[in-house]
Amino acid sequence: MKTKRIGFTTSLPVEVIYAAGHIPIDLNNIFLSQDSSGHIHKAELKGFPRSLCSWIKGNFSSALCSDLDEVIGIVQGDCSNSSSLLEMIAEEGIGIHRFSFPPEREYAALDKEISRLEAHYDVSRKQTQEVKVWLDSIRVKLIELDRLSYVERKVCGRDNHLWLVNSSDFQGDPNRFERDLDEFLYQARASEPLPTRLRLGYLGVPPIFRDLYDSVSDLGGDVIFNEVQRQFSMPHLKQDIVEQYLVYTYPYSVLDRLKDIKHQVKLRNIEAIIGYTQAFCHLQIDNLLLKKHIKLPFLNLEGELPEKLDSRTILRLESFFEVHS
Ligand code: SF4
Repeated sequence: MKTKRIGFTTSLPVEVIYAAGHIPIDLNNIFLSQDSSGHIHKAELKGFPRSLCSWIKGNFSSALCSDLDEVIGIVQGDCSNSSSLLEMIAEEGIGIHRFSFPPEREYAALDKEISRLEAHYDVSRKQTQEVKVWLDSIRVKLIELDRLSYVERKVCGRDNHLWLVNSSDFQGDPNRFERDLDEFLYQARASEPLPTRLRLGYLGVPPIFRDLYDSVSDLGGDVIFNEVQRQFSMPHLKQDIVEQYLVYTYPYSVLDRLKDIKHQVKLRNIEAIIGYTQAFCHLQIDNLLLKKHIKLPFLNLEGELPEKLDSRTILRLESFFEVHS
């Protein structure tokens, strides 16, 4: 059987793709690791509007240049633009499959959707569960990495972000990912704790800015909690695949996210929040509720293009640190 390269638009049960012997590829990670500005330009030449989220344009161009056999679009529980993005990808001759996180967040509905994905790749639930045990043995190490971030302070916010965000697809090779992770953990444990004046929580989709974490660290703070990235790493370790993707908060109501955030904010002694939103993203509305219900200093940052922080955003960060650290 040919090993296929399967792109996807946000975290989904990658266990199924690995169980089928294929390689899952998170298009968002490809977008940021390549010529991101070029990707946006190429999508705009195809007619994507300027007033559309850059991640969508980046995902489109990443799909075209990654030698993919198929793209799975998460058409419910992620982005309101995913359906249209998927149609544009299909138009370029790449196969597509739709996956949904049913908004009612019920076991039977999600079970049916995962079964549909398994049927598409000719995989049994038993095979999916076997891969889940394998991936969970790596996720345990990511939980340890996260603990080193907020308890021992031996992992900085940027590294925490990178490891957790890349666990959405294990970079297409879980064995290599685990070897690199083991090496990183070995060195982190041996390092000195990081000095931190202000313990920050980062809420929202991963930043498109290239240097946000470094700039925060230059100002004397650090991100101790990466909300959505932590969700991508599936830290709950539920035995059952359906349960795992039910406790995963990102695809569901912002109020479900809020419960998780409040718990983690308390656990990690978070002192202030950066709420990141992407220009032209519907999640900006959810951010209003997060800001309203989290009783901590809250700085809202908006990014649009994959570049370094602009001077206005740097000034806002500096003022925030002057007042709160
Ligand atoms: S940032 Fe918002 S608009 Fe952009 S891809 Fe993600 S969910 Fe969609």
